[in-house]
Amino acid sequence: MQEDPQYFAKRKPIKCPHCKSKTVVPIIYGLPTLEAFENEKKGKLVLGGCVVGPFDPAWQCTSCGTQIYKEERRSLFEGNDGNT
Ligand SMILES: [Zn+2]
Repeated sequence: MQEDPQYFAKRKPIKCPHCKSKTVVPIIYGLPTLEAFENEKKGKLVLGGCVVGPFDPAWQCTSCGTQIYKEERRSLFEGNDGNT
């Protein structure tokens, strides 16, 4: 479990909210294509794996590893405390 602060954004941030680097790339889920692998090597995206859950971040900073979630998912986090 990570306890880092979680960042939210409506669209892909240009700068990392943590380290201010302009190295925020989309995280691609599912079975990656050959093109996706090539783009990962170039640092244009991050491959997130095949398992897709409700709390997966949408973007990641390749400089510091900070992950940013889509704004719409905020309610999933906030509505998850003591839901009997
Ligand atoms: Zn960063």
